[in-house]
Amino acid sequence: MIEARRLILPLAEALIPVPAQPQAGICSICHSSAGPGYSVCAGCHSAARISPPEILPVTLSVHGGLVHDHLWGYKESSNPKVRSRMALRLAALLALFIDHHAHCIGAWDSVTCVPSAQRVALEPVVKLVPSLAAHHQRLLQARTDSRRSLDPAQFTVKGSLQGRTVLLLDDTFTSGAKLFSAAASLRNSGATVAGPVVIGRHIQRSWPDSSELLTWLEKRPWDATRCARCAGEHRGETLF
Ligand SMILES: [Zn+2]
Ligand SMILES: [Zn+2]
Repeated sequence: MIEARRLILPLAEALIPVPAQPQAGICSICHSSAGPGYSVCAGCHSAARISPPEILPVTLSVHGGLVHDHLWGYKESSNPKVRSRMALRLAALLALFIDHHAHCIGAWDSVTCVPSAQRVALEPVVKLVPSLAAHHQRLLQARTDSRRSLDPAQFTVKGSLQGRTVLLLDDTFTSGAKLFSAAASLRNSGATVAGPVVIGRHIQRSWPDSSELLTWLEKRPWDATRCARCAGEHRGETLF
């Protein structure tokens, strides 16, 4: 874990704590701003028909910020050295989070990532985390790359997952349509979904509700022992 801490130090300043529930104005599913008086944001509300699971984001990721840069750059940078450096940092962050919040995530027996039609973007990161890599399987295949649509049928599942508990992972959560569809697809095949854990819950500073949320969070340091589900209830050592 000391190695993980060293690796994520360049990201430390950019990590933003994820608000825990229940709090007025915070979405109980994606933990972003829901708007004054609401307990679910518009995006999660529109996914109600497929029962979206509560997600566990490692950090908020502000559009144009350093975490956002990493979540884009680890897969899209033209420089392979930059890609691998960013992947290593994200893997360290994910490893630290999984380690500290095993009790929040719950038990699982398999790990899979949300794929796109072209690739499984997060797979190289997951393969850098030994505890995840040992149980990782490509259980989902994307039929189309309809990024925004909410439809479990956009994924096919290989075989029956009856009795399995699958930890579902993704890099970025924006509208949630893809992640919620993937979770529903796994459940339709008999699996129980654990997590789901996403590295960055994407938000835009220009959205009025998000801007207010960011101002509120600015003075609160990100802490590896706190997540949206436990709020530090099982507090151990602190990171920074
Ligand atoms: Zn939401
Ligand atoms: Zn936790």
